[in-house]
Amino acid sequence: MINKERVLSEFFELVRITCRTKAEREVADVLKNKIAAYGWEVSVSEDDVGQKIGGNCGNVFFHFKGNVPGAPRLLLGAHLDCVEPSAGVEPVLKDGIITSAGDTILGGDDKAGVVAIMEALRVIHEQNLPHGDIQVVFTVAEEGGVNGSKNMDPSWLKADFGFALDSSGIPGKIIVEAPGQNKINVVVHGKTAHAGLAPEEGINAVVVAGKALAELSQGRIDAETTANVGSIKGGGATNIVPDKVEIFCEARSRNPEKLAAQTQRMVDTFEKVAAANGARAEVTVQKAYGPFVLATDSAPVQTAVKAAEAIGLTPTTEATGGGSDANFFNTYGVPTAVLAVGMSKVHTTDEYIKEADLYRTAEWMVAIIKEAANR
Ligand SMILES: [Zn+2]
Repeated sequence: MINKERVLSEFFELVRITCRTKAEREVADVLKNKIAAYGWEVSVSEDDVGQKIGGNCGNVFFHFKGNVPGAPRLLLGAHLDCVEPSAGVEPVLKDGIITSAGDTILGGDDKAGVVAIMEALRVIHEQNLPHGDIQVVFTVAEEGGVNGSKNMDPSWLKADFGFALDSSGIPGKIIVEAPGQNKINVVVHGKTAHAGLAPEEGINAVVVAGKALAELSQGRIDAETTANVGSIKGGGATNIVPDKVEIFCEARSRNPEKLAAQTQRMVDTFEKVAAANGARAEVTVQKAYGPFVLATDSAPVQTAVKAAEAIGLTPTTEATGGGSDANFFNTYGVPTAVLAVGMSKVHTTDEYIKEADLYRTAEWMVAIIKEAANR
């Protein structure tokens, strides 16, 4: 059904192109040129998110017109950027496993997703298979904050439902739930004084921060909610009562009410403990992304399950603890599931992918496009 040699050589070609977060231009242009060469009627556009976030490339959109009137419009997404160390990737295939040759990541996160989408489009076109409108979105700056899709204008998305190809695990795995996340940044303001001459005139921000942290609800809160204190910095010389400490925390939940409640509990604890000790807590809450939960009978889950079964994959549905572009696509009104593409040990120099999983993911994409056209 797919062309394995073509998939493998394209995967090698793409992971060799250095593609840091906010420096996705080269790979984006390669993909635009490839798609222009398909000879398929396609509209290509790029948004201004690159300028907004200080990168050299925006989110790239390809829109393919369907040949099945009334079929749902499908969104297929993958991200272009890679984590570090990403320069000079040399992919090596040995015994059916692809790794990097040196001290770099492989970049299967997320080029495995990109290649599966590219191959599926070629196959659909070459074999003139039935399909609805397809919108492909290659996002930038997914790593380190999901900033490409976060800053996207939601009106650019023109689809009824979709898939983000960006999970580790065996093809067939479908992520149907992901938490939302809030960042909670705290500055504890105390009062400085000479620690030896007049400590009673000071308010020790380090001590106040410590008291607040001892009372803070964090760690595993319940089955769908977690919280963490990630870093703390402040203070200086031992002869000075420190007047400033910064604390960086996060809260996550798949339930929006629980996320709000946990965030508020953390804010209240810092404010209450600081006030009780004559200090002041300046707390800022930033929404990193919203949660999503897809029903078993929703269009993306049904489509992915049926497509997996059609090609002999075992479909499984799972929840994740992490965020991805799908959190924003769902927030923007396009129900989107995350699909496993076979990548393993991502974000490490031990990253690898099975050659066979590259092909299975591409086959799954073709099956998904066909299945969606039948809905
Ligand atoms: Zn990824």
